[in-house]
Amino acid sequence: MNLALSTADMAFRDEVRQFLDEHLTDELRQGQRRTTAMYPEPEISGPWQKILHRRGWLVPLWPTEWGGTGWTALQRFIFETECALAGAPLVHPMGVRLLGPVLLRFGTQAQKHEHLPRILSGEDYWCQGFSEPGAGSDLAALSLRARKDGQDYVLDGSKIWTTHAHHANRMFALVRTSDDGKRQQGISFLLIDMGTPGITVRPIRTIGGDHDVNEVHFDSVRVPQSNRVGEENAGWECAKYLLEFERGAGIFSPRLRAQLIKVAQALKAGAAHADAHLMRSFGEVCADLDTFEWLEMRTMASLAPGERPGPAASVLKLRASRLKQAIGALGVEALGLDAVRWREEPASPRAEAAQEGLPSLLVPEYCNSRAFTIFGGAQEIQLGLIARQLLD
Ligand SMILES: Cc1cc2nc3c(=O)[nH]c(=O)nc-3n(C[C@H](O)[C@H](O)[C@H](O)COP(=O)(O)OP(=O)(O)OC[C@H]3O[C@@H](n4cnc5c(N)ncnc54)[C@H](O)[C@@H]3O)c2cc1C
Repeated sequence: MNLALSTADMAFRDEVRQFLDEHLTDELRQGQRRTTAMYPEPEISGPWQKILHRRGWLVPLWPTEWGGTGWTALQRFIFETECALAGAPLVHPMGVRLLGPVLLRFGTQAQKHEHLPRILSGEDYWCQGFSEPGAGSDLAALSLRARKDGQDYVLDGSKIWTTHAHHANRMFALVRTSDDGKRQQGISFLLIDMGTPGITVRPIRTIGGDHDVNEVHFDSVRVPQSNRVGEENAGWECAKYLLEFERGAGIFSPRLRAQLIKVAQALKAGAAHADAHLMRSFGEVCADLDTFEWLEMRTMASLAPGERPGPAASVLKLRASRLKQAIGALGVEALGLDAVRWREEPASPRAEAAQEGLPSLLVPEYCNSRAFTIFGGAQEIQLGLIARQLLD
């Protein structure tokens, strides 16, 4: 694979840089910088999404007739790299990266016309209702019941770990519509208005101190049957397809590199005890990140707009989440004793002066990075999937 930039690619990179110079405000940059949870708050990601949408650069993986950019894999990579290095906010992925491809593949024309434009404009903010208290890795055990009544389903049960449910006005969810046959054959994929009576959202605080995830309870919640995507009891197909995009359609390495640069800043600021062990760890993580970048590029290069990531999704998810944790651990180690003062407000004067408040960023980021080998399918599950692919 030849990664040398052609004249056209360099011109594209310059165009992206100019766009970022013109549109990425300090407020948006600061908002992303201060985000230690998985995703920035909607006040940060929303305005950036609108800016990208206006420019036609929001959904590179969608077909062009629905707003896709038609970029090559290398252009996508250039774009993501420039955005990460400039500190641009992450766009909330639930609509654009997860639900969008499912609707494009399984949705009716009416569903596409109703939902895709509202995903693009940011009018709808989606959350993902898959996991339940008794169904995480074993997702097919889900039991949130959807019983038919007239033109509606009536939903009773709970979802858990629902990221940004407290912000979302819509949820895509897996619900149980039958107990017959294999467990996977009794699941349907529904689109739910979060304003429907009977839905209660309760916060869960994570170890980094953030409110990112929630419990969501359903008590006789009516959802029109026309909100089902795909056939009744065929939701498992939608779910598997969506999970491939959740695990393998992002470009992670530029954001990981930006995080590593923050760690390098902490080392450079001098507060760190840059001993031989730490420097060796730093070198190992750098080499790991380089190889991951190549792996990711190679996978992206084989992924044309409208295509699915396939089995490589599990490899990318596993490598990216482990790297995220390794970089986080390195950051905490680099901070030394200052790491334990991260909750002080303001941070200790020495730490503040030397590292521009880095403890208050690096430590919660490290804590929250524990979740990366859990959500979207835990690392043991990814290892199982990879092993099965190799043995098949
Ligand atoms: C921060 C965060 C955000 C999340 N956001 C969402 C969201 O928006 N929407 C949503 O639906 N879900 C979300 N999740 C839930 C996530 O998908 C689940 O936590 C995950 O699938 C694991 O399920 P569980 O928590 O029930 O753990 P369990 O399934 O109980 O697993 C516990 C441990 O056992 C291991 N294990 C389980 N089964 C096996 C096996 N067969 N072989 C080997 N090891 C196994 C797991 O790897 C794990 O280490 C989120 C989770 C987190 C932490």
